Amino acid sequence: MKRVAVLGGGPAGAFAAEQLASAGLAVTLIDEKLAWEKPCGGGLTYKAYSRYPFLIENSIPKRLVTETVLAAPRASAVTLKMSDPLVVYSRFDLNRMLLERAERAGAQIEKVRVTGMSRSGPVWQLRTGSGVLEADFCIVATGARNPLRDVGTQLAPSDTMAALGYYVPGEQAGIDIQFLPRLEGYIWIFPRCGHLSVGICGKGEPAAALRKRLELFMNERGLPWKGSAFYSHLLPSLETRSWRNNRVAGEGWMAVGDAAGLVDPITGEGIYYAMRSADLATRSLLALPGDLAAQSAHYRTALRRDFTADLEFGSRLAKRVFLGRFLLSAVTTRTVQFTARSPRFAAIMQDLFAGRQPYLGLKRRLMRNLKGSLYEIAMSLGFARLLPGSLPAKPSL
Ligand SMILES: Cc1cc2nc3c(=O)[nH]c(=O)nc-3n(C[C@H](O)[C@H](O)[C@H](O)COP(=O)(O)OP(=O)(O)OC[C@H]3O[C@@H](n4cnc5c(N)ncnc54)[C@H](O)[C@@H]3O)c2cc1C
Repeated sequence: MKRVAVLGGGPAGAFAAEQLASAGLAVTLIDEKLAWEKPCGGGLTYKAYSRYPFLIENSIPKRLVTETVLAAPRASAVTLKMSDPLVVYSRFDLNRMLLERAERAGAQIEKVRVTGMSRSGPVWQLRTGSGVLEADFCIVATGARNPLRDVGTQLAPSDTMAALGYYVPGEQAGIDIQFLPRLEGYIWIFPRCGHLSVGICGKGEPAAALRKRLELFMNERGLPWKGSAFYSHLLPSLETRSWRNNRVAGEGWMAVGDAAGLVDPITGEGIYYAMRSADLATRSLLALPGDLAAQSAHYRTALRRDFTADLEFGSRLAKRVFLGRFLLSAVTTRTVQFTARSPRFAAIMQDLFAGRQPYLGLKRRLMRNLKGSLYEIAMSLGFARLLPGSLPAKPSL
């Protein structure tokens, strides 16, 4: 294989181009916008920067956020301290850093739109705004609104969430997460360099209804939305069955990042999975040169082992987390209450936020800690005297 075309220059495409160019392949990355302020929180978890330390060890402007305020209907808000901060970037800055790394590694970067692709024998012909480009292999990294219909995941409406919001002037130290009644999603306030990103994501609800919910919330919080810059985009949020048949690779191509639907169906985190899938795709490509079928199979297996089995399980949990009930109340309400009253439960939440606690294994950890958590909750509610462990010792005879 001589020439690889990387279609799309977001985190997935830029990272794939860097890896392949570093390995000595002739790489052309094509993006219609190059670095741009994609609608996105821009938040990177511990999971992301512990695997790729250059994401935190650099001089690019960023915010390190160490607390999140969680709130839900009928539960007082609770502040969750994060032992490992969330790193928040402007997407323009993050994309630019990743594209510069790709260029330094030797990738050729072109700012043009890909309008179509076809295969003639072993060669791809890519139609672009400035002519036709030939390549032996394509990495498809064109994001959630991938216009190239024959490659990448096939997102049904039920496999997506709308995500929209406003950039609002303002300043605050922590993140706010607000759960809402009957919404498979949440509202966020992210502090960024110089402004706040206030947004909402939700599955199964039209964007207009989500926007109304968000504006109502912003009115209640005194956050101005009239006159603030509005953003909206699509978030892949695959249903459980869609994870099984997800089209991530084919003859002469592999899809990475949002173009492969690789987003956490509960949190909406996608930047880490964009970079990780790019990493796995390039390794598969380099491990089995020339054997297209084996490369595809290798990539599918690597994804499943690394994180898609976990995200598939997360897609099963999502409805229970956002819409389920526990002890006569919404799960989201109980989650906030338990976080406030049980340090053990709060530690699990911290690990979930940092990406240290996978969804597979979460139930086991919750069950293992259940007695201890309930004990802590009962103590915090003032039931100490009713608990067997806290009865006064029998007077000795
Ligand atoms: C509102 C919102 C908030 C989010 N917040 C977070 C967050 O805080 N943390 C997090 O981890 N994830 C977040 N995400 C998810 C994250 O934004 C994505 O998962 C991530 O950007 C995926 O990277 P990617 O490279 O796959 O795709 P993208 O970043 O979408 O990049 C795709 C690139 O392809 C280019 N392109 C597309 N079509 C063509 C074409 N035909 N020709 C040429 N170029 C093309 C585009 O210009 C773009 O640069 C959020 C998403 C949304 C919508």
